[in-house]
Amino acid sequence: MNTFEIDKEYVAGTYRRFPVEIVSGKGSVVKDPEGKEYIDLGSGIGVTAFGIADDLWQQAVTDQISRVQHMSNLYYTEPCAKLAQLLCGKTGMKKVFFSNSGAEANECAIKIARKYAADRWAAKKAAEAQADVAAKAQTGEDCPPYTIVTLRNSFHGRTLTTLAATGQDHFHELFQPLTPGFAHVAANDIDELKDLASKTPIAGVMIECVQGEGGVIALDRDYIREVREFTEENDIIMIVDEVQTGNGRTGELYAYMNFGIQPDVVSTAKGLAGGLPLGATLMSEKVQNVLGFGDHGSTFGGNPVCCAAALSIVSRIDESLLEEVRQKSRYIFETLEGAPGVESVTGLGLMIGIKTVKPAAEVVGKCIENGVLCLTAKDKVRLLPALNIPMEVLAKAVEVIKEACR
Ligand SMILES: *Cc1c(COP(=O)(O)O)cnc(C)c1O
Repeated sequence: MNTFEIDKEYVAGTYRRFPVEIVSGKGSVVKDPEGKEYIDLGSGIGVTAFGIADDLWQQAVTDQISRVQHMSNLYYTEPCAKLAQLLCGKTGMKKVFFSNSGAEANECAIKIARKYAADRWAAKKAAEAQADVAAKAQTGEDCPPYTIVTLRNSFHGRTLTTLAATGQDHFHELFQPLTPGFAHVAANDIDELKDLASKTPIAGVMIECVQGEGGVIALDRDYIREVREFTEENDIIMIVDEVQTGNGRTGELYAYMNFGIQPDVVSTAKGLAGGLPLGATLMSEKVQNVLGFGDHGSTFGGNPVCCAAALSIVSRIDESLLEEVRQKSRYIFETLEGAPGVESVTGLGLMIGIKTVKPAAEVVGKCIENGVLCLTAKDKVRLLPALNIPMEVLAKAVEVIKEACR
């Protein structure tokens, strides 16, 4: 049996795979077993931030793997400590919790929002108990706020809690009951959020600045700023899910930086370690001590090999790379906007959605035939190329896409 046949026989049938097997690669070019080359514009869904087998990344990983590959969180390792320091230095956040995936990074963020609200509520109750008994009834509710509000059309992961957070009904149908305590409001409609908050006590609001799986749609700048203002005024934790948008993808280190806000919690994963599994939840000063001893944990989280990989990636996401990302983004927009068969181009940085006249799957199939790998999101062709894809390689691939849209 060949790989396709063995996979079909033994791997759970949860993925509709493209009929392509990849055996090796370098940078943004990958090869199948017959030696056919493809330009990779998906980078493992925004994971291989510096492409396949990047030299410095590979060096960092092999150095660390030859020292110690894992020690558990019962001991200190330098890559974990240094990565947390680097992430805090570049974001102004104060503490980091490491996990293994985007869903887990979000789970941690949700736990922080809930525990922050519960701690506040308990403190208020205690203060009331100390004070005049007559004043006691003022808090009203007899449980702390726990609801986390997310946006319709969002995507936050596949665990039962992050599925509940995901604002798309079709993800919910098969797995009831999901974790309770989530509510969804329309994106770019601050009044719906305020209206909900006037009826339901809210612990947190979680958004993606650019909805990725939802169709590569950037939220309105004003809306993001209004959410920040509203959450700040009401002591509600604002979580920005930067699992896909983070780590240079949108032309800033984190997408929220495009909008001039500072969230309370940032979750990230995908491109963070350039191809090894690592999630991170970044905590602002306000929530840095919400999780204490024993409140959360992960066996693999902060693994030294993954953290060494991430150090290699994050330390190289500097202003000159980010400017390169923005330039390549402009090139893609300018080349494809208004091209025959292209209805619209959306997104931010190197996170791009192309609404095509033909069905997206047909365009992607045509691209595969012609040696270019792209993704889809909803009804769009989606591009998430490596941040360092050489301009001439990108130009060649964009020509193939343009031809396939025609
Ligand atoms: C991919 C993604 C996730 C889930 O990440 P996993 O690593 O697959 O758990 C969560 N949120 C967003 C915005 C994503 O794009």
